[in-house]
Amino acid sequence: ITVSDLVSESYKRIGEVEDKVQAFLTLDEERAREAAKKMDEKIGTDEAKGLLFGMPIGVKDNIVTKGLRTTSASKILENFDPIYDATVASKLHNAETITIGKLNMDEFAMGSSNENSGFKATRNPWNLDRVPGGSSGGSAASVAAGEVLFSLGSDTGGSIRQPASYCGVVGLKPTYGRVSRFGLIAFASSLDQIGPITRTVEDNAYLLQAISGVDPMDSTSANVDVPSYAEALTGDVKGLKIAVPKEYLGEGVNEEVRQSVLDALKVLEKMGATWEEVSLPHSKYALATYYLLSSSEASANLARFDGVRYGYRTPNPENLIDLYKKTRAEGFGDEVKRRIMLGTFALSSGYYDAYYKKAQKARTLIKQDFENVFEKYDVIIGPTAPTPAFKIGENMSDPLTMYANDILTIPVNLAGVPGISVPCGFSNGLPLGLQIIGKHFDENTVYRVAHAFE
Ligand code: GLN
Repeated sequence: ITVSDLVSESYKRIGEVEDKVQAFLTLDEERAREAAKKMDEKIGTDEAKGLLFGMPIGVKDNIVTKGLRTTSASKILENFDPIYDATVASKLHNAETITIGKLNMDEFAMGSSNENSGFKATRNPWNLDRVPGGSSGGSAASVAAGEVLFSLGSDTGGSIRQPASYCGVVGLKPTYGRVSRFGLIAFASSLDQIGPITRTVEDNAYLLQAISGVDPMDSTSANVDVPSYAEALTGDVKGLKIAVPKEYLGEGVNEEVRQSVLDALKVLEKMGATWEEVSLPHSKYALATYYLLSSSEASANLARFDGVRYGYRTPNPENLIDLYKKTRAEGFGDEVKRRIMLGTFALSSGYYDAYYKKAQKARTLIKQDFENVFEKYDVIIGPTAPTPAFKIGENMSDPLTMYANDILTIPVNLAGVPGISVPCGFSNGLPLGLQIIGKHFDENTVYRVAHAFE
């Protein structure tokens, strides 16, 4: 089999299912085929030894790719053609994967269903009337539909894990700082993290290996050793101590979701792990804390989209202020505007102490909850999302119900720890996800448990 064969298979599958799934915003077929041809010449030589050599991959559209349209699913960046690669994109080049195209998402990664995309709504390949989750819905759907083998997503409050759960694939949010954010179009810089979405835990470990590591271009990337993730895939969980937060199996969690987690715990118990119920008492503040902090950071990060420096500019402004106003009014979608307004309000003088500062304090308490549990336990386990994939349109009129969907993933971002979603069953033909959360920079234990369970 050649790299050209793999790439052809990928575009063939896209040709078959893409009009239904709608996972891609941009395809890069010509360049992908050309790159594949060049790589075919290396087959059989030492230059073709890399584990990801020739693998077709999809990239979420908030990761900038040189010469390949990058929109963050926003009209304001509709024709943005980056002049540089994100660090993860360069790392993919080094690993010799082939970028098939750019994947749909909620605009600027704000959403849980892909319905906030400025262009189209991706569908869940398991049931086309359902959402694929979000914001990395295109990344999860493209892997689930077999259009690509791997994809990259980003996770600020659950945007890799929740769509992975809804689409029945494996998605990891690494420890904050594990992967460079250089070239990731920022939503909330203290929470954003890029991570892999794949069919298996093993693939996930290989892809994370390729993108991990400190980066001089991102001062928040961490200078810690990158272990061999694949070495963690021993299948052995004997003696491992699992904590199950009672807050993660309580009110609002669908009965089948709850049952699937309890079944998963039984499997792990049989393999020699033990589990106990614990409490993360500040979980109840996580949602409010997250939406306040992430919107505050977003309001600052999105100030750069002013019609002067990037992308869309309103055609007939009366003066400079009018140019800013009209460009932003016409370029941003409703959800993005809602967050900018909320964030600007929370940061304004007179309200800063009451909202932003208070939320920062709550964040510290949430982080300490995790640290306390991790003093005694190796991993925390719970569901990834409270329900299976919901219907397209079901939550669109009510942003608060939509936000409540993130209740089980958000605390992990606030604490900065790694978390994975692995498939753990079905409810009415819709996949469910098990979430496994680890200590800072302990992706290996997370992978170990995920792989043993898988
Ligand atoms: N659904 C959450 C939000 O709308 C999380 C998004 C994300 O992780 N990027 O903010």
